[in-house]
Amino acid sequence: MKKQIIFATGNRNKVREIREILNDPSIEILTQKEAGIDADPEENGTTFEENALIKARSIARTVREMEADGRLPGGVYRLVMSDDSGLVVDALDGAPGILSARYMGRDTDYRIKMTHIMDLLKDVPEEKRTARFSCAAAAVLPDGRDFAVLRHMEGRIGHEIVGENGFGYDPFFYLPQYGKTSAQISPAEKNAISHRGQALRALARLLREQGVL
Ligand code: IMP
Repeated sequence: MKKQIIFATGNRNKVREIREILNDPSIEILTQKEAGIDADPEENGTTFEENALIKARSIARTVREMEADGRLPGGVYRLVMSDDSGLVVDALDGAPGILSARYMGRDTDYRIKMTHIMDLLKDVPEEKRTARFSCAAAAVLPDGRDFAVLRHMEGRIGHEIVGENGFGYDPFFYLPQYGKTSAQISPAEKNAISHRGQALRALARLLREQGVL
């Protein structure tokens, strides 16, 4: 039976990343929009895993309804995947955490968000500026079983905004092993160590162990 992965995102980069990780051209990978699914579930969980599962379960429910009433053709094994990620700063008790995208307002420039966090940390000694990017990746199978894994990329909050790669909070996220921020390493280097790369690879491994992929 033909296999399809529907990723609960509008972000084509995430689809490209999972395609590279799975490296199986027989599996079709679509964003939810490409699959014709119009849903924006409220991420009201309290952890990255909960929010990833909320998104995946909600899209999966819609997929099952659309299969049942013929809006999606039968004979396709449709797996729903999602991820949820964010920046966790130890000296801020884990903030911005699951609220990373919404922190100080969704449309606020990241330079303003990062400058604010650096201000909050201005008296925090170097060894206490530890932080991590965390990512939960989740999958819901057609039989209703679901899986979630959580992975991290450890680093430190830097003292300046530097680097052109990446997005969001990358330009002030210092990776001691590189002596650079995650906005200064290449996309390939970042994928190899990132929270999202690790979580998606772990989820793919789990699904292969289950005989699903
Ligand atoms: P989401 O999981 O796509 O909702 O992303 C959550 C938010 O966390 C993003 O909008 C960013 O603010 C932040 N974030 C997650 N991963 C990264 C990363 O790799 N670099 C920089 N910021 C990130």
